[in-house]
Amino acid sequence: NKQVVLKGYVDGTPKETDLELKQSILSSLTAPEGSSALLVKNLFLSCDPYMFRRMRQFYGSYIPPFVPGQPIEGFGVARVIDSDDPEFQPGDLISGTTRWEEYSLIRKHEQLRKIDPQLDVPLSYHLGLLGMPGFTAHAGFYEVCSPRKGETVLVSAASGAVGQLVGQLARLHGCYVVGSAGSSKKVDLLKNKLKFDEAFNYKDERDLNAALKRYFPQGIDIYFDNVGGEMLDAALLNMRMNGRIAVCGMVSQHGHSDPRGIHNLYNLISKRVKMQGFLQSDYLNLFPKFVDHVVDHYRKGNITYIEDLSEGLESAPAAFIGLLSGKNVGKQVICVARE
Ligand code: NDP
Repeated sequence: NKQVVLKGYVDGTPKETDLELKQSILSSLTAPEGSSALLVKNLFLSCDPYMFRRMRQFYGSYIPPFVPGQPIEGFGVARVIDSDDPEFQPGDLISGTTRWEEYSLIRKHEQLRKIDPQLDVPLSYHLGLLGMPGFTAHAGFYEVCSPRKGETVLVSAASGAVGQLVGQLARLHGCYVVGSAGSSKKVDLLKNKLKFDEAFNYKDERDLNAALKRYFPQGIDIYFDNVGGEMLDAALLNMRMNGRIAVCGMVSQHGHSDPRGIHNLYNLISKRVKMQGFLQSDYLNLFPKFVDHVVDHYRKGNITYIEDLSEGLESAPAAFIGLLSGKNVGKQVICVARE
């Protein structure tokens, strides 16, 4: 059973060499007394920025660190091979927490879901558009941002797994949407494929405050923040009265032990801005509604979704670390096997 394991806890910016490929023997299907287990074949694995935090020993978060020597844990799509739970039969497709290996023995957990074949979307979409990132976009936009038609919206890491859906939902809601991303290729996708009103490459801007003033002469009503740091600081300066900031993630901060670049928090007070952090898992009761809403728009052609598929478990370390330099164009997924 080929695996990708964490070599040891990471200090500083995570690197490809912090992960290694290993061979191991698959343990037999024995669940602890009172719990059920599933033996699954992993098909698609998700690379998500929150996983960088789990590479550190101490980071004070909502989920424990990875265990060195053990395969990386993360969201995946898999096929059930064997199960002692009557709810899951061999052959069923599931999405939920699995591990970076060919076959996994997994326990039942809150976000383990049977995939409905009727949905008829590419299987890997259950890690993006219809998975945790898509749900994050949906819950964050509707529940945290309280959007109104005609409002102005800024989305950072806008071509990524979460950002691309936030922007499209905002457009469908009648908002004016600007995305920031880190390459001209991404900017082009945002404007021409994902139908953002405007997009810019933040790496080309010497002064982010000036860039935001250019795109939002009247100011920003909603900032969906995926990156933190300097973009958040510039957005604070440009928020409108009673604006909202959804603090979804701080991917720009993964190499730093202390948050950098924030000087403008006073704007929260002077402009009565509401800034709220959130976790998608707080809103899981809304998951079925999210799937219905997004699938409906997808079928009508109102929503598209860009993925970056990398082939083979061997490609996982590079694909995952690539999130930190923006190598991924769209949702980063690893294809371990197709069936
Ligand atoms: P993406 O698919 O957007 O991948 C990460 C992207 O971040 C890269 O492609 C890169 O894009 C950008 N990036 C990397 N480093 C920097 C930097 N220093 N400054 C600015 N941008 C950078 O990831 P996701 O869509 O999966 O996640 C987006 C955010 O949402 C993350 O912060 C993540 O932690 C958070 N999140 C939060 C959840 C929650 O429940 N609160 C759940 C899921 C995700 P570019 O080329 O544009 O720079």
